[in-house]
Amino acid sequence: MKNKKSLGQNWLKDRDILIDIADHASVDDSDTVVEIGPGLGTLTSALFKFFDKVIAVELDDRLAENLPKSFPGKNLQVIHQDVLSLDLEKLDLPKKYVVAGNIPYYITSPIIQKFIHAARRPEKIVLLMQKEVAERLAAEPGDYSILGLSAQIYAKVTLGPVVSREFFTPPPKVDSQVVILEPLDEPLASEKTMSLIKLGFIAPRKKLATNLTIGLKLSKEEILQKFAENNISENARPADLTIADWVALEKSL
Ligand code: SAM
Repeated sequence: MKNKKSLGQNWLKDRDILIDIADHASVDDSDTVVEIGPGLGTLTSALFKFFDKVIAVELDDRLAENLPKSFPGKNLQVIHQDVLSLDLEKLDLPKKYVVAGNIPYYITSPIIQKFIHAARRPEKIVLLMQKEVAERLAAEPGDYSILGLSAQIYAKVTLGPVVSREFFTPPPKVDSQVVILEPLDEPLASEKTMSLIKLGFIAPRKKLATNLTIGLKLSKEEILQKFAENNISENARPADLTIADWVALEKSL
């Protein structure tokens, strides 16, 4: 089937890799998975090894129409829709459910934000995505970005296996990697801290003190005083602070 580049259609057919991804998604106490972008159904098939029910959300007309034909007798619900406009409240979801998918790269960040902030958060979100983005999501202090912080404040982030580009048809320009996000019961920082982080990253490579002087309209001396109180180096870049540093800084500001 001809692929639509605009929908990020790169098919993955290696059975062992697909089973490995589905295995990462499996949890003891949930039998339902929401799959994002099932495409030709290769990951769907692997997911059925670990889950009784798959709710597959596919935007492409032909794919959404054809998918049920590949799974006769299986508990498959196909939703022909943009996953970003999916109303989770309207789905027949059990208390505990999982989200999985070999996702279209162009909406990686909105997909993550949608599910980690959902009123009914999944137990686990297991996504195959561009390797560089996976690394940014799981980054540590020194390499933090808004993307990484805004994920790690709301979920435990773990890296899974790397999937080389040659396993895809057609092969994309980059390698992929599985990311496992486990939403936390309570976020590690408040909305206010998140707003401070956004100000701090206005110019990611500049010194944090410079960004905050501009963003908060405070003098450099005032900012550096707060840094000293919280043991933050005056030369720190936005990427250097831990989540705990951001929380402490926001409180003292
Ligand atoms: N799961 C299949 C596989 O592993 O071979 C296909 C993965 S392909 C990278 C991404 C899939 O997401 C495609 O089937 C594409 O049509 C679908 N898709 C793209 N944008 C979407 C959206 N906004 N909502 C739901 N599905 C989407």
